Amino acid sequence: MSDEARPDNGPDLTLGVTLADFGGRDMLRGHVGKKAVLLARVGDEILAVGASCTHYQGRLDRGALEGDTVRCPLHHACFSLRTGEAVAAPAFSPLSCWKVEREGARIVVREQLAPQPAPAQVALPDRPESIVIVGGGAAGFAAAELLRRRGYAGALTLFSAEADAPIDRPNLSKDYLHGGAPEGWMPLKGADFYEKNRIALHLSTTVARIDTDARMVVTADGARHSYDRLLIATGAEPMRLPIPGSGLPHVFTLRSIADSRAIIARAEGARTAVVLGSGFIGLEVAAALTKRGLGVHVVSLDARPLERVLGAELGDFIRALHEEKGEHFHMNTSIASIGAEAVTLADGTVIPADLVVIGVGVRPRLELAEAAGLAVDRGIVVNHRLETSAPGVYAAGDVARWPGADGESLRVEHWVVAERHGQVAAENMLGAGQTYRDVPFFWSGHHGTTIRYVGHAQGWDEIVVDGSIPGRDCAVRYRRGGRTLALATIGRDHEALEEARRLRAAG
Ligand SMILES: Cc1cc2nc3c(=O)[nH]c(=O)nc-3n(C[C@H](O)[C@H](O)[C@H](O)COP(=O)(O)OP(=O)(O)OC[C@H]3O[C@@H](n4cnc5c(N)ncnc54)[C@H](O)[C@@H]3O)c2cc1C
Repeated sequence: MSDEARPDNGPDLTLGVTLADFGGRDMLRGHVGKKAVLLARVGDEILAVGASCTHYQGRLDRGALEGDTVRCPLHHACFSLRTGEAVAAPAFSPLSCWKVEREGARIVVREQLAPQPAPAQVALPDRPESIVIVGGGAAGFAAAELLRRRGYAGALTLFSAEADAPIDRPNLSKDYLHGGAPEGWMPLKGADFYEKNRIALHLSTTVARIDTDARMVVTADGARHSYDRLLIATGAEPMRLPIPGSGLPHVFTLRSIADSRAIIARAEGARTAVVLGSGFIGLEVAAALTKRGLGVHVVSLDARPLERVLGAELGDFIRALHEEKGEHFHMNTSIASIGAEAVTLADGTVIPADLVVIGVGVRPRLELAEAAGLAVDRGIVVNHRLETSAPGVYAAGDVARWPGADGESLRVEHWVVAERHGQVAAENMLGAGQTYRDVPFFWSGHHGTTIRYVGHAQGWDEIVVDGSIPGRDCAVRYRRGGRTLALATIGRDHEALEEARRLRAAG
């Protein structure tokens, strides 16, 4: 549906519009033939680009302008209005650009411009001959993609322990798991992308050791690969619990597409499922399995789902969303044992379970960094430029702990953060000296209700709710010492973008 004319595509821009048609806003969505086009006012200029985000087709006119860029309201991808370039993840493909003509007071668009090449790094201070990336996930992919976009011409090697090329991991517990997203949606890029961009993608290949003195990585089969710059983007792995029966074949964790496929295969023909854990992934899995027609029970040690991240009121609301769809919650308890057809809770309750998913959190994969002697403190310690303690070695994504505002260090598990880390690390491996200062952002979907969250609140002394949580129209602010640290929204995507802008400016 990207860029196709829809009934709400606004005026025909070949006939022209006037500034009055903007209705006081700084963006206007119109169309040229079947293509939806966004007009944006930047100072006295009017710029025109494709109107839909190239990530998940969010309507950019509902997003936010920032200088000569526009941000998508869905997942906060950022595009240049001048060149169409996807300047910040999660989008990687550019928008189309259109010629704007003035005919008196009328602003007319008729002609699509030729694609503009992405700006290469000018006058690279550093000229590495070989770059190695360990990790084929969000951060590793985003780094590799941007290195080539910036004109890096040297050797580029990407190692991934997974059998599949980098995929849209957040979808593994959402549309893909419930059957609403075909396989074709999942790869971040097709196989030809890696070939065309000369990215040596080694799948099912585990890096076993890093030798920072020799600037070498060694894979599990003993092969040695030298690097001038190295990016460690090994992500995180699901935690497993020593529960009797957790090794049975119908017990799963979820991180890779192989895991998601295995859960789907088991769900076919299954009638009941138990999900251990009431965090984002556990609840999304519960929703997907419910949608597949299974009777789902959620078991959690917590008193409320998501309370530590979102607070009690939002946690209760999300629980109610799941209960409305028939899911059962067993809080303040855990699974004592798992049998072939049922689980037994700590209080002796027996719940039938043809399928069990353990979603009790993840731990960052730090072993390589630890063994290589890098500074590690509940994450690989990096500076503002995402450099580790070893020269030429960077870390990004779920593994990285970076200095945030107020000197507080951060390590988060968010898709967009990992991708933007990867992008900043890529620029810096080429000597750009960029500081990472983005505001964390994540989203999570629960039976059709999406929560967006910007900022990072590790604790708060008040929660201020504007609007109605049950009405699915709210902005929930997490505040400490009179300052907003983070904001969660439902149905207020634009407000989340504005808060992110404010937090960026304050940081
Ligand atoms: C089911 C699910 C749903 C999610 N939903 C959301 C969401 O809705 N919103 C959100 O913001 N975030 C979500 N996340 C979190 C998000 O996916 C992660 O934050 C993100 O993937 C982290 O990216 P990364 O590159 O750091 O790690 P990953 O994407 O995990 O990639 C790490 C890569 O490193 C490889 N690797 C590890 N060790 C080695 C080694 N020694 N040698 C070679 N390769 C190695 C792994 O195989 C993998 O390819 C979700 C995660 C999951 C699992």
